[in-house]
Amino acid sequence: MKPRNAQQKQIMALSKRLKPITEKQVAWAYNHCFEHIAYRTAKNTLTCGDCGHTWKSPTTLVDTICGSTCPHCGKELKVNNTRSRTFKQCYYFCVVTTCKGFQVVRIVMIKSTSKKGNAATYFYREVAQRWIMPDGKVITIARLRAMAFVYADLWSFDSPMEIRPHHDIYDIISNCEHYPRVRVLSIYKRNGFKGSFHNASPIKFLQSLLFDSKIETLLKAGQHTILSHFVHNPYTLGSKWNSVKICIRNGYIIKDASLWCDYIDLLKHFHKDTQNAKFVCPTDLRAEHDRLVAMRNRQRERQQRERERRREIEEQEAERKKLEQMQENERLYAEMKSKFFDLVFSDGVLRIQVLQSVQEFYEEGKAMRHCVFTNDYFKKKDSLVFSARIGDERIETIELSLETMQIVQSRGVCNEYTRYHNQIINLVKQNIRRVQQRMSA
Ligand SMILES: [Zn+2]
Repeated sequence: MKPRNAQQKQIMALSKRLKPITEKQVAWAYNHCFEHIAYRTAKNTLTCGDCGHTWKSPTTLVDTICGSTCPHCGKELKVNNTRSRTFKQCYYFCVVTTCKGFQVVRIVMIKSTSKKGNAATYFYREVAQRWIMPDGKVITIARLRAMAFVYADLWSFDSPMEIRPHHDIYDIISNCEHYPRVRVLSIYKRNGFKGSFHNASPIKFLQSLLFDSKIETLLKAGQHTILSHFVHNPYTLGSKWNSVKICIRNGYIIKDASLWCDYIDLLKHFHKDTQNAKFVCPTDLRAEHDRLVAMRNRQRERQQRERERRREIEEQEAERKKLEQMQENERLYAEMKSKFFDLVFSDGVLRIQVLQSVQEFYEEGKAMRHCVFTNDYFKKKDSLVFSARIGDERIETIELSLETMQIVQSRGVCNEYTRYHNQIINLVKQNIRRVQQRMSA
C-alpha cells in the first residue's frame, strides 16, 4: 500500500532510516527464545542439535529429566528421546526503540531447523514495525504474508516493508519476547516506565501507558499482574476500577489477576460490597474464590431444580386444562344432542345411530381416517352426525343439517363412498321425520 497522507509518508521515510537488526540482537534471540535440543542417537550417545557434536552420556534418566550440557559448545540442552530426526522452531521477538520522536516496536521472525547429527541452521527476517502515533493509533509497516489469513509464520520474505492495513495477526505476533535493551520516549519514563513490560505485549503496554491514566496508576502502584491483565483486556478495566483502587489504597498487591477478576465478578453477583477492603482484599484469594464458586454452583443447582419443578407444575396444569376442556366438550355435546341419542334407523342390514359422545367422534375419525373429530364437528349446533354400521363395522359417517334437514355428506374410510352409500342415504331420508319430532319435543 502506498503511503496516503503526510503522516504515512513521514513514517515510511523514517522506517527506511532505521538501522538493520543487529547481530547481537539476533544472537540474543537464538539463545533466549529457542529450545535447544540434544538427540539421543544411540543408547548412550547424545548429539547436540546446535553444533552437531556427539558424546557419550551414560545417565539416561538424569539427562531426560534435567537436560544435558554440550561439552563442545556449552549449551544447556533439553534431551529429545523421540525418533524425529528434524526439529523446527519458529518464534518472534521484538526490538523496542525510538526514531525521531516516535516510539517503534520492530518485530523479527527467527526460525531454526536442526537435523540429527548436523549443526542447526538459522534464519531471521524483520517482518513488521509498529509505530505509535501521537493520537494513539498504530501505523504498521510490514511484509506481505504469503497466506493472508491465519498462519503467522508464512511471510513473503522478499516483499517490501510497506504500510499495511490493520490485521489482528500484527497484534498476535507483537505479543512476544523483547530484546532486553529498550529505548522509549521520555514521556514513558515520566509515566512510570522502568524497563519492564510486566509480561504484557510491549506495543499494547506502550499504547496503554500513554493514553490510559489508570495503567499509569497501576504501574506506579506496583500492581504489575493486574496491569498486564488490563493492558490485554481493557474493556474489563472500567467495571473493576473502583475495586482496584481499594486494593491500591490498602497496599494489597493482586498476584493472580484473572482469579481476582473472577472473584470480583462473583462478589458482584452475590451483591457484596466491591468497594469494601474486607471483600476485595482477601488474605487467601484462592480460598475465597473457591468458596464463592461453590456457592455459585449450589445456586445454579437450586435454580435448575426450581426450573424443573416449575416446568412440571406447568405440564400438570396444561394436562388438567386439557382434561377440563374435554369434559366441557362432552357436557356441551350432550346438552345439544342427547335428545337424539336413542334414535336408531335400521333396515335389517344397516344400523344408523347418532354419535353418542365426543369420545365417539374421536374413535369414528380415527377408524375412518377423516376429520369428523379434528374439525370439531361435535361443536356444530346445526349438524347431527351419525355412524352407519353393519354389526361392529363402520361403513359411512353421515352429517345431517338440522336447519335444512338435508344430508350434507355421507362418507366412508378416507372420505370415499361405499357401495352402501345410496342405501344409507335412503334410510336416513326415510327417518327424517323422527329427527324432526325430537327437535320439536
Ligand atoms: Zn553443542
